[in-house]
Amino acid sequence: MWDPATGERQAEVVLAEPTDVEAAVAAARGAFVDWSETSLSRRAKIMFAFRQLLDENVGELARIVSSEHGKVLEDAKGEVLRGLEVVEFACGIPQLLKGEYSDQVSSTVDAWSFRQPLGVCAGITPFNFPAMVPMWMHPVAIACGNTFVLKPSERDPSASNLVAELYAEAGLPAGVFNVVHGDKVAVDALLDHPDVAAVSFVGSTPIASYVHARATEKRKRVQALGGAKNHAVVLPGADLGYAADQLAAAGFGSAGQRCMAISVAVAVGESGDALVDEVSRRAREIEVGPGLDRSSEMGPVVTPQARERIVDYIGQGAEAGARVTVDGRELAVNGGGFWVGPTVIDQVEPEMSVYRDEIFGPVLSVVRSGSLDEAIELINRNSYANGAAVFTGSGHEARRFQREVEVGMIGINVPIPVPMAFYSFGGWKDSIFGDHHIHGPEGVRFYTRGKAITSRWPATNAAGPGDAGSMHFPTPS
Ligand code: NAD
Repeated sequence: MWDPATGERQAEVVLAEPTDVEAAVAAARGAFVDWSETSLSRRAKIMFAFRQLLDENVGELARIVSSEHGKVLEDAKGEVLRGLEVVEFACGIPQLLKGEYSDQVSSTVDAWSFRQPLGVCAGITPFNFPAMVPMWMHPVAIACGNTFVLKPSERDPSASNLVAELYAEAGLPAGVFNVVHGDKVAVDALLDHPDVAAVSFVGSTPIASYVHARATEKRKRVQALGGAKNHAVVLPGADLGYAADQLAAAGFGSAGQRCMAISVAVAVGESGDALVDEVSRRAREIEVGPGLDRSSEMGPVVTPQARERIVDYIGQGAEAGARVTVDGRELAVNGGGFWVGPTVIDQVEPEMSVYRDEIFGPVLSVVRSGSLDEAIELINRNSYANGAAVFTGSGHEARRFQREVEVGMIGINVPIPVPMAFYSFGGWKDSIFGDHHIHGPEGVRFYTRGKAITSRWPATNAAGPGDAGSMHFPTPS
């Protein structure tokens, strides 16, 4: 594991063998029956205690995330707080798991439904939000009565260890939350394990697709969230200064390593030149430096390979004829580390690789567009469909955008429309494989399965008129 700010190795990660995964799943399976029978109020109390401990450890978690991922401390703190919101949502589990009840659906017959946990659930998570993305999963799964095995990214795994310690301190029984560090070997062992009932995955699209195919073949329930290419459309009536500020923050925050980063600005109409000037000016002003340095606004990227890939894409854009107005390829900080400065590429065309592919770095491509219709068509042709934003002064245009754009999350004058914990998060098309979005109401549905009960309690045990068994399919009387 690297220190992305210096380029030095900072730790070694011992990668799990299948036997380690076996031990974690066995622990989770062993804990399941007792945990699923633990009362809702007890589960909620443990979640409240966990929430309190997380709150007390926001600073420490943020420090760990910043030192391993490279993102700046305030940003790391922000991700921990957004994860904490999911824990707060999970604290409401007694309310969230309320079933439905219909009295007297037939004479002396009542019907109701409720939801039960699945068993052992697995989470496989990416490097870019090492605290928040796992928290999209395990608080909801555990509050619903499941046990959980987390396989965090091997590039920044330590936050998950502290989270496990906090769960234990909060009173969560041993075996309910387990962490396995590893790579493909550990992932495959989880996907194939007969005792794993459900898999939540967040990562790149090719791996999401693979995880979904392999785990559904093993008859598991799967939600696999993939990569993104998020567009922000700036319409002629928008406040250009505000839009430029938002684009710079959403394009370069966390060095563009966010699945909801804006990587394409679509400039509609004649204000395109002014927008590019404004965004380029802001990009040049961003203070780039080590994540743990409080004056830094943007940190390094995560690995040397990531840096190489991003630099290569910028070169491809330039070669294809796009205009690099701010070029971050040569940035050097402190003589080491994996640095790419904020980069703006104008006059990008849809067939260029900088537009087509997810670069996952601090690179904002600008595509020029003649109209809102054209911009919507461009977004809908893209195979990624996580988020999209529109900057406009017109409610009518905003309404058209929200209805016609085919992505999972829309921002209106909001560049990174990450839903609050009590809504669900997820994209469409190649940004997700599986039917359930993550956390919020869809998270509760994902981690539980429904049961419908029909019961009859006549006044006495003696059969009355009409109570005799019928050979016909039952209909209400
Ligand atoms: P990744 O796909 O490389 O890794 C994700 C997880 O899969 C890791 O735990 C990793 O160990 C495992 N993995 C990697 N290769 C594997 C293989 N061949 N077989 C089995 N498992 C494998 O993703 P990353 O680089 O860690 O994260 C960045 C990606 O995640 C970006 O594409 C980003 O858009 C995406 N992401 C998406 C969302 C979302 O909500 N849609 C959120 C965050 C990140």
